[in-house]
Amino acid sequence: MIRGNTPLQGKKMKQSLLAVALASILGLSACQTTTPVTNSPQQQVQPSFSQFSKGFIADLWQQYPGWSLWAGYGKYDHILQVPDQTSREKNKQWLNTQLATLSVYNPVNLSTNEKTDYYLIKNLLDKGLWEQEKFKSWQWNPSSYNVAGGFAKIINSRFEEEDTKLSKVLTRLENVPAYYQAAQNNISIPTLEYTQLGISQNKGALSVLSAELLKPVKASGLSDTDKSTFEVRLTAAQTAIKGYINFLTSLEKELKASGAARSFRIGEKLYEEKFAFDIQSGYTAKSMYQKALADKQRVLAEMSKISDSLWPKYFPKTAKPVNPQEKVAKLIKHLAVKHVSRDEFVPEIKRQIPELEAFVRDNDLITLDPEKPLVVRATPEYMRGFAGASISAPGPYDTKENTYYNVTPLDSMTDKEADSYLREYNHWILQILNIHEAIPGHYAQLVYSNESPSLIKSILGNGAMIEGWAVYTERMMLEEGYGNFEPEMWLMYYKWNLRVICNTLLDYGIQVQGISEEEGLSLLMNDAFQEETEAKGKWRRATLSQVQLTSYYSGYREIYDFRETQKEKLGDKFDLKKFHEDFLSYGSAPVKYVIQLMNNSQ
Ligand code: ZN
Repeated sequence: MIRGNTPLQGKKMKQSLLAVALASILGLSACQTTTPVTNSPQQQVQPSFSQFSKGFIADLWQQYPGWSLWAGYGKYDHILQVPDQTSREKNKQWLNTQLATLSVYNPVNLSTNEKTDYYLIKNLLDKGLWEQEKFKSWQWNPSSYNVAGGFAKIINSRFEEEDTKLSKVLTRLENVPAYYQAAQNNISIPTLEYTQLGISQNKGALSVLSAELLKPVKASGLSDTDKSTFEVRLTAAQTAIKGYINFLTSLEKELKASGAARSFRIGEKLYEEKFAFDIQSGYTAKSMYQKALADKQRVLAEMSKISDSLWPKYFPKTAKPVNPQEKVAKLIKHLAVKHVSRDEFVPEIKRQIPELEAFVRDNDLITLDPEKPLVVRATPEYMRGFAGASISAPGPYDTKENTYYNVTPLDSMTDKEADSYLREYNHWILQILNIHEAIPGHYAQLVYSNESPSLIKSILGNGAMIEGWAVYTERMMLEEGYGNFEPEMWLMYYKWNLRVICNTLLDYGIQVQGISEEEGLSLLMNDAFQEETEAKGKWRRATLSQVQLTSYYSGYREIYDFRETQKEKLGDKFDLKKFHEDFLSYGSAPVKYVIQLMNNSQ
């Protein structure tokens, strides 16, 4: 799948996923802007790699207008591609042409920055072919067909004139019936889980393309002809969506009756291949799984030890449970009541940021640019309902925007919900969250990433590197003495870290080893101290994604291991601050390449 795969761009993922299966309906010759490879290279001046990559991005947006819409490019927002056989053929041709053009460059001759771009482009193209020819989720994932996201993106834009938005929507609407017809033709033996998701999400699409849309149309400056065409096309689009929902509903019935649905487990071979494309790791998925298994045992043992030492302090009169799991769980539950009041949630986070900055500065961990302050704000209304805390980073086409740390206030929660939430984000975990999201986690990494100016990296940035860095900093800060080595802090950190470890175990367990739901839930609830609601939600997510759940741990493990190797190699000369700054200087490139580049520069 081709996607802007940083988890920070969570909302973009869905559409980029769609972009994969789609190709230009207009049949634009997408390779026009790059110099084609000819039979007589000696007669031709080869463009520099930077010229090539500029042209490549322009071509990419032309080839994948759905993706360009999410990147904020703007030029192709009106195009809705029909995901039919013709478009797949054109797509394949485009990918192969680009690969041929790329092969003219020898990465050995490129600068460090360009070299990474080269590999990112190559991975994108190889993955596009693999997705289309081998993984073929366009055949078995009915939820990958949904027009709502693109329309909503245009309609909700805050920067565009109402009439411009509506005329983009008008053009886009034309292809909706053909789009869903192609989707129906593509589907063959889907998974039950993706079929059900496709049904519920397309029901949601009807609320985006509802009759409500006609109100602004009537009031707009569109011509009378356009207004009536709009109405006709909107009705046809609604009919097409309903038709697709009906098609999927009867398919679901059939599959349930016959038991012939495809398994949501992709198996070892495809999992390894997808892992290689998505994570771009130096490890295989299997060895990463084994590392996670060992880490789980190590972390559980540490938690048990810490609990032993803390037990008399908190339960002087109660006998310690013999079962270590029970002992740890009881202590965590007891400690979790230490948290801020609901009104203090956002102010407390604001208060902690300067403290984290001071700690990072005083301990020489990494240089923070005072010119790029982090703005902590209450999450804007239109973004709420997804994550409790997130970072809004400026996209590749709006670098002048602020970086925001969005924190959702607890206003809309009942007392009971707020209490449960605050126990989860208790005194200790809240600090770890701030390290992860802000300093020196995501925010610090983004500032460095933006100083390594490469449009390729900001579009194709590696999610495992970005999340891995944030997870790495949690442990690094504690190792450097943040929290004064308080055992309570370490215990809570380990609980938090176990979640990341178990995500990897669960994903591999489900996709490759075929573990049952019961085994999966037991892993999360008994071994990782999770509540049932959280565990069930995670199980569901793991049946609707592959590899993504493992990106946090993979990135973290790879960065941490590399740091340990460097420490050993450099001995007294190892400088943590220099290591961090060097590591981040390559932009959001996959850890594997950062390691290669750092090794070469020594
Ligand atoms: Zn994160």
